[in-house]
Amino acid sequence: MLAAFLLGFLPACSLTASKSGKGLKTQNVVIVVIDGPRYSETWGNTPGLIPNMSTVLKPKGVFLSNFLNDGFTYTNSGHAAITTGVNQPIDNYGEEFPANPSIFQYWLKQTGKPATAAWLVTSKDKLHILANTTDSLWHDQFLPSVNSGVNGPGTGYRADSLTLVEAKRILTEHKPNLMLINFMEPDGFAHAGNQAYYIRGIYRSDRYVQDLWDFLSKDEHYRKSTALLVTNDHGRHLDGIDGGWQEHGDNCKGCQQISLLALGPDFKKGAEPETPYTLVDIAPTVGKLLGFKMDSTVVVPRLDTTVVAVAADSTLAVPAKDSLVVVRSMEKSVLKGRVIRDLFKEGMLP
Ligand SMILES: [Zn+2]
Ligand SMILES: [Zn+2]
Repeated sequence: MLAAFLLGFLPACSLTASKSGKGLKTQNVVIVVIDGPRYSETWGNTPGLIPNMSTVLKPKGVFLSNFLNDGFTYTNSGHAAITTGVNQPIDNYGEEFPANPSIFQYWLKQTGKPATAAWLVTSKDKLHILANTTDSLWHDQFLPSVNSGVNGPGTGYRADSLTLVEAKRILTEHKPNLMLINFMEPDGFAHAGNQAYYIRGIYRSDRYVQDLWDFLSKDEHYRKSTALLVTNDHGRHLDGIDGGWQEHGDNCKGCQQISLLALGPDFKKGAEPETPYTLVDIAPTVGKLLGFKMDSTVVVPRLDTTVVAVAADSTLAVPAKDSLVVVRSMEKSVLKGRVIRDLFKEGMLP
């Protein structure tokens, strides 16, 4: 009686909004990050090394070719841009949490679900940092579950084949609503200068994405209610720039150009919009899909080299080396990411 009374006075939208985006079918989101392939070895030359994604999966979803990491083109920063919607400089060895809360935390806070409802499953052990934040209001709260590297932080990179096995095991066992998977082999072998294995890594990642989509499409819990987003954290240098395909990290076209392939019950099929989007647009899009809103105010760490004042009686003509210090400051900013509207079927978004 009381419940019926309350329901009658609640705005209709709040009922659906609490479970997923208003009027949307998506209940689960799986993000796959293929770490650091260069566009010219993937979507720039199809079917080539990615026959599954380019011929089987692409017609089932939306492909964005005009998709960039226009922030910091290295692993932890690219991944943090995906999970927090903010481009920030960050330690790349797994020693620093992102400055802002993640989509995992927003989702767990909003739903009150246990940590097993959101997962990080990453070949690179250093990506455990994506689970937490330095934001004092969110630090150590609403943390997702982590399955990273060989056996957690500091244990080394894990083979992608094993990461796929772990991802499917966790999906079966815990039925999470949100998962980010990192496949590291293209990047790892490129840094090692092993071109054959770099290429093999891309080829295998393509196969793993297909395998995962087949799994999600057959699974009773995930079929027809799951969005799959396949992207990259960064590309690699164009030929002739600083080591070419072996390295990355600057703002050359090769490092910035990545891609997004999106499949799901609320997305268009066979669309290839040319609207430009960037990595920070993924987080608010996941928010739209799962029905949570991110704070519009964010912080961005800024690193400055500051010369410390030299004592008045100093006879040094130039400051001594140790008088140069890196000062870290937090700058307030606004969330720049926006929902990738081009993914959604006509009329799905207001
Ligand atoms: Zn990377
Ligand atoms: Zn570059």
